Amino acid sequence: MSETIHPSTLQSYLYCPKKALLEHFDPEREEIPQSKAAARGTILHRLIEVGPQFCIGDYQDIVKDVGQEAIEIVEATEILGELWRQLSLRDIEILEQEKTLQWEYLAHQFEGTLDAIVRFPDTPKGMVDIVDWKSGQHKPCNEALRRNVQLALYWIGAKENGYDPYRVWWVHLNHFQPLKRASRGRPAGSMRGDGFFPVRISHADVSAIKELISPILGALHHGIFPPSPSTERCMSCQVSHRCPSYGGEVEEVKVGLL
Ligand code: SF4
Repeated sequence: MSETIHPSTLQSYLYCPKKALLEHFDPEREEIPQSKAAARGTILHRLIEVGPQFCIGDYQDIVKDVGQEAIEIVEATEILGELWRQLSLRDIEILEQEKTLQWEYLAHQFEGTLDAIVRFPDTPKGMVDIVDWKSGQHKPCNEALRRNVQLALYWIGAKENGYDPYRVWWVHLNHFQPLKRASRGRPAGSMRGDGFFPVRISHADVSAIKELISPILGALHHGIFPPSPSTERCMSCQVSHRCPSYGGEVEEVKVGLL
């Protein structure tokens, strides 16, 4: 069986192969309701797509589609108001949003959606920057950002589709919350930086990513999905009830996927 591969699926495999299997590939997989954190991200992404003029009606329509009010309109307005202010201050031009691309890489078909294709004032002529809006609590360290499979594959996908990408930006939306709200429950210093984190992907990074994902593609082909349990991972896992490593009862699923 041959499947289109999404960069997020490979990122998910790196996190825990068993989770990737139960969420994305298992023919018996259940419809998993979005976690509150994921639903919050979806609402923010969709509001960004609407643009700075979004109104209460847009918010209500999106919440209805998502199925839960995972973020209140006041907080969403605060975050996005500051995001739009920052984009304007930095003179960032949004060229395209939610751009779905397909490309071939390592003899496999990939598909991914870029949140935004933009130009900063310092983006060299003829090049573009790629932006990924992130709504999670934490930003990875710089080394992890440079070796982030999802970001690197977006960069490769953009190149394969005729763009000339200069940088990929991890834009951490939680940075744009008012300080009082942002610092609630977080250790001091966790909100350092300005929310815009650039990643320059070098040839060495592309080679490292290639080395990292080649065996994963082989594992997908042969249906190899070992669990990678850890207290932190398993406690927040949406499919733990089906995972034997966490006391779940799913029978061993054996699928060769690619
Ligand atoms: S419970 Fe843990 S080991 Fe099992 S799928 Fe989830 S994260 Fe992986």
